[in-house]
Amino acid sequence: MTETTETYDLHCHSTASDGSLTPTELVARAKEMGVTTLALTDHDTLAGQQEAKHAALSNAMTFINGIEVSTVWENKSFHIVGLNINLEHSELNSGIKKLQALREQRVKKIALKLEQQSIAGSYDAVIKATKGGVVTRTHFADYLLAQNQVSTKQEAFSRYLGQGKPAFVATIWADLCDAIAWINHAGGVAVVAHPLQYKMTESWMRRFLLAFKELGGSGIEVVTGRSHNAEINRTLHYAEKYGLAASVGSDFHTPNDSSIELGRLLPLPKNITPIWELF
Ligand code: AMP
Ligand code: MN
Ligand code: MN
Ligand code: MN
Repeated sequence: MTETTETYDLHCHSTASDGSLTPTELVARAKEMGVTTLALTDHDTLAGQQEAKHAALSNAMTFINGIEVSTVWENKSFHIVGLNINLEHSELNSGIKKLQALREQRVKKIALKLEQQSIAGSYDAVIKATKGGVVTRTHFADYLLAQNQVSTKQEAFSRYLGQGKPAFVATIWADLCDAIAWINHAGGVAVVAHPLQYKMTESWMRRFLLAFKELGGSGIEVVTGRSHNAEINRTLHYAEKYGLAASVGSDFHTPNDSSIELGRLLPLPKNITPIWELF
């Protein structure tokens, strides 16, 4: 029997949203890191997919079409990764177009709120920095850092951009139900991104995962770039309890964050269905 060592990374970002590498550079780095199957999952956009797919093919890597959709359920926002989607599907494309419009409106509102905090110039700076890509709070955090308004990106969120902070703009993203439907109708599978990042109580988690499954969700990220063993065990338990397949993804954004690397993920426990079995 021949042993194959596959390395999956099914969650990362490029310059099409808030990553710092172009899709081509990202794929080259993934290859260097030993990734054999990659999904690029930019926020609310498919703009980087063709370039990444092309680069992956020339590097003899398997590429899975992907996206990370901003959603809302019971007034709380959740990120849902869509994997193995048809890029041409019209319902998915018109859905994310609305999210992109919401993001464009939000950029102006965030910039205004920063001006009220005596921080000028953010609008022009983030538009310039994104070069036509989707604008996210990460771009504002980069600007605050560059202007020495904060000393870390984390501080940009805890002082200005995070929920309840002076430059936070509440946004009604896609309904969870709609986002799952777009992904499923586009032939893909919907996966809960970084489930422990929402700081949910156990009862919220239970209600959320029941709803997610009921609405047609298929998987949950069991291993992320930040996971420790205890966290993997906790999410594994959720996957088993709610009948969800397990996904793995670093959520890599930039080589400047030395704590997260493409393909650098703890192993997925053996006793769970991996999400790629559903592709
Ligand atoms: P948005 O979708 O525009 O609200 O931006 C969300 C993005 O901001 C996430 O995908 C992360 O990349 C980044 N982000 C959110 N919270 C933090 C944080 N506390 N520290 C660093 N980056 C963050
Ligand atoms: Mn991001
Ligand atoms: Mn996310
Ligand atoms: Mn992400």
